[in-house]
Amino acid sequence: MQTAAGNGALRGGIDLGGTKIQAAIVSAAGEVSGEARRATPTSGGPKDVASEMAKALVEAADAAGVQTDSLAGIGVGSPGDADEQTGEVAEAKNLPGWSGSFPLATTLSEALGAPVRVANDVDVATNAEFKLGAGKPYRSLLGVFWGTGVGGGVILDGKRWVGRGAAGEIGHMVVKRGGARCPCGRRGCMEAYAGRGAMEAKARREHADGAKTKLFEIMEEHDRDRLTSGIWERAIHHGDPLAEKLIGRAVEAIGTAAASAVNLLDVEAVIIGGGLGVRFGEPYAEKIAKEMHKHLFVDERPPAIHVAELGDLGGAIGASLLFDE
Ligand SMILES: [Zn+2]
Repeated sequence: MQTAAGNGALRGGIDLGGTKIQAAIVSAAGEVSGEARRATPTSGGPKDVASEMAKALVEAADAAGVQTDSLAGIGVGSPGDADEQTGEVAEAKNLPGWSGSFPLATTLSEALGAPVRVANDVDVATNAEFKLGAGKPYRSLLGVFWGTGVGGGVILDGKRWVGRGAAGEIGHMVVKRGGARCPCGRRGCMEAYAGRGAMEAKARREHADGAKTKLFEIMEEHDRDRLTSGIWERAIHHGDPLAEKLIGRAVEAIGTAAASAVNLLDVEAVIIGGGLGVRFGEPYAEKIAKEMHKHLFVDERPPAIHVAELGDLGGAIGASLLFDE
């Protein structure tokens, strides 16, 4: 009989996002044999979120034809401050009622009958690209996840680098001293220019001041109340001047921050993921590379730039890899 940690044992992975919970059952080789998705609760508190996470994982296990207590382990990629040692998650501010600390690993482990580990969502997604996706050829890389915010992850010498727990916050590298106000409350962070949240706030202000744009018409046509990645893409496709201006500004900010990180770490590759990063794809990864190049101290051998390959399931697959380390 095979031991739980043996080769071929199945693991669970859960990617906890602000709008959805994605669960998957994953083999040691990274193949997904079952998956399920549930909406993240918008009210209640951490217990309610944990209960939906457990349900999602049970559904994924049903789809894979296994029991959750037979899994070698279940990894969780979580927003907020995820403590890998204690399994507690604190300050997950985009989740309902989650300002304090909550024992997420213990709670899920009791519900599902398997060991549970938690880590930062962007760190595990970066690790998934490193082990199974666009980062496979490299020993060191920087993951840049361009979405509502801009998250980052670092792999150095074949291992995730988390520092004292908070490394890789590339969105909060300063690209302009005294610059735009960031959702984090500080000024001049890259995310203040490139995060979808910050870009939408800026677009609404400029639109109110009379700037010409189809962004909000497209939003209404598609029955949305916010500017999703798809709406930005459509506006760019139509040559919308405000969308072009703001996306151009975002590309500059991402390129500047990524180049500064490369000047410090000299990683082999930069992987661009996230909702906007994946939607805009290769042509925009090239624009980011061009922007980076202006700021690279050693510019004759720039790092490779790739778009993330694992798509929507990357977070859950990466979380399952927490039982592979
Ligand atoms: Zn910031």
